[in-house]
Amino acid sequence: PEMAKNSPTIFDRILDGSIKADIVYEDPECLAFRDVDPQAPKHLLVIPRRRITMLEDAQNTDQELLGHLMLVVKKVAEQEDLTDGYRVVINNGPDGGQSVYHLHIHLLGGRQLNWPPG
Ligand code: 5GP
Repeated sequence: PEMAKNSPTIFDRILDGSIKADIVYEDPECLAFRDVDPQAPKHLLVIPRRRITMLEDAQNTDQELLGHLMLVVKKVAEQEDLTDGYRVVINNGPDGGQSVYHLHIHLLGGRQLNWPPG
């Protein structure tokens, strides 16, 4: 998706506040908000403020940021009381079902999730 890689996404508009999102956590590096089309009782997205289009495009220099995002997922899960467990997903590219080309981590919980996913 070459064109998608250079164009801003809907997440840039959430980051700059021009469209609303239900933000549950933010810090200088990232933002966490509720998915508009939740696939579970709790469905959050954690995104870096600086756009990495997809996991495939992450660089060695992104290592610290990627680690930070993962720890934020854990923090948000605690904040959301997901004490019975949860699932963490990154969709990458067309076969992965990625629809927004700004790296994001899905956090899903609040019900028993099936494996494998469809
Ligand atoms: P992907 O399919 O790329 O892994 O996930 C993109 C996610 O972003 C989808 O779950 C979709 O529901 C969510 N999403 C798309 N547009 C918006 C929006 O404008 N606001 C919020 N909160 N979530 C969105």
